[in-house]
Amino acid sequence: MIKEYYRPKSVPEAEKLFEMEGKKCVPLGGGSVLSRLKQDDLCVVDLQDLGLNRIEVTGQKVHIGSTVTLQQFIESEFIPEILKEITRKSATLNLRNQATVGGYVVTADGRAPLAIALMALDAQLIWHPGQKIQNIGDWFSLRQALGYWISGIQFNLNVQLDYEQVARTPMDVPILAIGVARWPSGRTRVVLGGYGRAPILALDGPEGSGVLEAVKNALTESGDEWASAEYRQEVGQVLAKRILSTTA
Ligand SMILES: Cc1cc2nc3c(=O)[nH]c(=O)nc-3n(C[C@H](O)[C@H](O)[C@H](O)COP(=O)(O)OP(=O)(O)OC[C@H]3O[C@@H](n4cnc5c(N)ncnc54)[C@H](O)[C@@H]3O)c2cc1C
Repeated sequence: MIKEYYRPKSVPEAEKLFEMEGKKCVPLGGGSVLSRLKQDDLCVVDLQDLGLNRIEVTGQKVHIGSTVTLQQFIESEFIPEILKEITRKSATLNLRNQATVGGYVVTADGRAPLAIALMALDAQLIWHPGQKIQNIGDWFSLRQALGYWISGIQFNLNVQLDYEQVARTPMDVPILAIGVARWPSGRTRVVLGGYGRAPILALDGPEGSGVLEAVKNALTESGDEWASAEYRQEVGQVLAKRILSTTA
């Protein structure tokens, strides 16, 4: 339960709140997770008036402010169609209107489609204060915050992204998902999800060889209550072949 609520109007004001002695306030995005927590001493700093709800493009790089909602993300002219489609799979319309990109990244597990795609794109998180940059893959593997809050997320737009998933129904969370990002230089990143606490990196290489083997190896211990490792390895090969047959 939220016991203390602060809504700063500027970044310095927010910083002071996070630094208050004897208190440990946490950032509030859309509140879809935080408002459900049962702990009775929650202190939150609402980020919504800090002007972080913008999407901007500089050169080939897109910067998504952390309080941009998932629905705003989908409606932006700057976001590639494939990412919009993946975001539609990530949450229902009601949730997309509430949840923020920052909150999504912090709470995402291995079955979160947009998280898998952003990790394939090697997106970077910008932590405040100090504008410290962290690759999203490091966040998912270490869950080590570099500041009080994420002010934005950025990634390059000149990268071809492909994504495939298998789920019980088209809008269900994936049992297996694969995101493949291919840079003009040939660099290829393959990220898998559909199980576990976070998406996992199968391959990051200067060109696209060895993808099938990397997918199989990465899924060796992927068995859980939803599917066996053997099933995921087999489906992983099918999905990877489907993506590789599209032109980079
Ligand atoms: C009913 C329901 C169904 C869901 N279904 C799915 C689903 O099918 N697939 C899926 O992928 N996800 C699903 N989710 C998870 C959903 O994506 C998250 O609830 C949502 O993205 C969290 O965003 P938020 O802005 O509401 O976060 P909040 O609730 O505001 O915060 C969540 C956490 O993130 C932290 N945080 C928020 N913003 C920042 C920031 N800028 N910097 C640092 N930390 C921050 C908070 O301190 C808190 O720890 C579901 C959630 C609900 C409630």
